[in-house]
Amino acid sequence: MGETEDERTSQAGQLFENFVQATTCKGTLQAFSILCRQLELNLLDHRDFYSSLKAAITYWKAKGLWGKLDKRASHKEYSKGKACADTRCLIIGGGPCGFRTAIELALLGAKVVVIEKRDTFSRNNVLHLWPYTIHDLRNLGAKKFYGKFCAGSIDHISIRQLQLMLLKIALIVGVEVHVNVEFVKLLEPPEGQGTDGPGWRAEVRPAGHPISNYEFDVIIGADGRRSTLDGFKRKEFRGKLAIAITANFVNRNTTAEAKVEEISGVAFIFNQKFFLELKEEAGIDLENIVYYKDNTHYFVMTAKKQSLLDKGVIINDYIETERLLASDNVNQEALLSYAREAADFATNYQLPSLDYAINHYSQPDVAMFDFTCMYASENAALVREKHGHQVLVALVGDSLLEPFWPMGTGCARGFLAAFDTAWMIKGWAQGKEPLDLLSERESIYRLLPQTTAENISKNFEQYTIDPATRYPNLNSTCVRPHQVRHLYINGEQG
Ligand code: FAD
Repeated sequence: MGETEDERTSQAGQLFENFVQATTCKGTLQAFSILCRQLELNLLDHRDFYSSLKAAITYWKAKGLWGKLDKRASHKEYSKGKACADTRCLIIGGGPCGFRTAIELALLGAKVVVIEKRDTFSRNNVLHLWPYTIHDLRNLGAKKFYGKFCAGSIDHISIRQLQLMLLKIALIVGVEVHVNVEFVKLLEPPEGQGTDGPGWRAEVRPAGHPISNYEFDVIIGADGRRSTLDGFKRKEFRGKLAIAITANFVNRNTTAEAKVEEISGVAFIFNQKFFLELKEEAGIDLENIVYYKDNTHYFVMTAKKQSLLDKGVIINDYIETERLLASDNVNQEALLSYAREAADFATNYQLPSLDYAINHYSQPDVAMFDFTCMYASENAALVREKHGHQVLVALVGDSLLEPFWPMGTGCARGFLAAFDTAWMIKGWAQGKEPLDLLSERESIYRLLPQTTAENISKNFEQYTIDPATRYPNLNSTCVRPHQVRHLYINGEQG
């Protein structure tokens, strides 16, 4: 006997629910592939994928999500998903900014492939969200994927939850995602075949992965602070020595834990008494500390070198920070105690048990790192031309501008850059002159390091990929085309 219409609807609904509720990267991809197979949806048909999925999943719970995504997709900038209909993009890195960019490009109608070198999302660390990012994620249906998303006054999310939710949205809007694929380098089009021959491609690991045959005309580096894309000079911002410690403790969600107040950025200058007492009582000397209650109890603090030496966390004093913080110069047990003591003091000893959460390496989740130097790319994009083929190369997220961790600006500024990049790619698809395109992108990029939650437009509902909707004092022509000539790299001439 054949299935009834109701049975089919219910089965499709269940498969979709499995996908929505999946808690890991691999689980999500698996549930998605089962869903597509059962519903006979063609994953490669990026143009109609979203509408086919929506037509197949009619059960009530999905309706709210479709409503939200339809609303987003109706922005006039996307031209009904036709703005970038012939554009083919490769995005390196499935971090929050890679996926956020991917979603925008898919909504513009581009073919989008994301490659991610790992197959797990394991970062417990928590990102601060600016009000606009909360609004943005809610409008993409964040709460459908993660019910606890920004409940009440909470304005943060663990990196892994954010990645997971954005991966799901990206898949729904037709983005192709390949995990365990590492970008190695950009490959030039072969010689002698002109514009009819193959275009730009990527060398990846494992070699021979089908994606190495994928030709694209846009490539985006979203692979974090150590970006692998050539051609971008990096500026260094060197401050005084700054050593940060992150620590994650198990959150058992008890009433006692629920009562403990978060610390959303206590800096020495604002609360000298607190830090002096911490120094006197525990010998722990900090410049700032942040505590977010999320999936874990997450702490990030900036510690003074002398107190780390005094407490035996750092064994020998060296001038070079790399040597100072090298693993053989750090006493892991002392580090665990240092971070635990600081967390205990900062929360007034109210967290009942400070048991370390476990990280990706099956170790207690504590890390110490140097952020004396923060990097930013000098430029946001460039164009390469070889044998008649052009490729637009762009950076987003930490690859473009490294965040200051205690302020958690990575995701907020990262999403702004994702939208700005999508705007540039729309211009690219419309055939805008490369130098005009690049000078506009650089003009907008100059605003990014200065953005704060306060000085961007407050009218979040109006936000689109058009920068004018987000930056109140936008001057898109402050960099002139002749100033970006070096960003047009013609391989024939060099
Ligand atoms: P990322 O989140 O770094 O994502 C880059 C992705 O690219 C990763 O998934 C990586 O596996 C992948 N990748 C890298 N190289 C390749 C390659 N060659 N090929 C394919 N894929 C590749 N910010 C805070 O505010 N507070 C914190 O406590 C904090 N902790 C962090 C801890 C770690 C270990 C890291 C790496 C970053 C942390 N950050 C923190 C920064 C924060 O995660 C980023 O600002 C935010 O996630 C947005 O970054 P992104 O998407 O640009 O890059």
